[in-house]
Amino acid sequence: MSDTLFTDLNLSAPILKALKEVGYETPSPIQASTIPHLLENRDVLGTAQTGTGKTAAFALPILSRIDIKQAAPQALVLAPTRELAIQVAEAFQRYATHIPKFHVLPIYGGQSYGPQLQALRRGVHVVVGTPGRVIDHLEKGSLDLSQLKTLVLDEADEMLRMGFIEDVERILQETPESRQTACSRPPCRPRLSASPPPT
Ligand code: AMP
Repeated sequence: MSDTLFTDLNLSAPILKALKEVGYETPSPIQASTIPHLLENRDVLGTAQTGTGKTAAFALPILSRIDIKQAAPQALVLAPTRELAIQVAEAFQRYATHIPKFHVLPIYGGQSYGPQLQALRRGVHVVVGTPGRVIDHLEKGSLDLSQLKTLVLDEADEMLRMGFIEDVERILQETPESRQTACSRPPCRPRLSASPPPT
């Protein structure tokens, strides 16, 4: 653990309150080193493995900057498996306990579309999804990524290994160029770009 405290990191008051309640005392090294950059809207490549606190490293700054009045998704987390998508969405929910009206939605294959469509219509601030189902929603016109501020590629190495690279590139094209990108467990830099593919 580092000497840094959560209160040194410029996180919002509702987040600091939630952290106190979940009992985290100090940021893990990955949190202390990435949270300040993410809060400043910089892109981040993190090499931390599962179990190091990597989820909170991206979830806390996203939640600190969330605009609760904006109904279109502000952050999209892409995850290789439904288990990880659910786990990450639950972490967002836990850290957002003191942000009234905050909504996070996990979207993954194998679950019926109805509840996902309903939630997307109502408005969600953060979407956590597996690439295939995210593309399905983009094709149906039910997911609007035009207002996205942050894209997280969680366990990017695993997404690459599972053959999701083309899906991820396709999703990237639907996001604004100005968006911030955080990548947990690269390699992702050499293959991914925000620009459209050559015609
Ligand atoms: P992750 O690497 O995101 O899978 O997190 C691993 C575990 O560490 C989870 O159970 C988190 O709740 C927990 N955790 C994350 N950050 C902290 C922290 N700063 N202090 C204590 N536990 C933490």
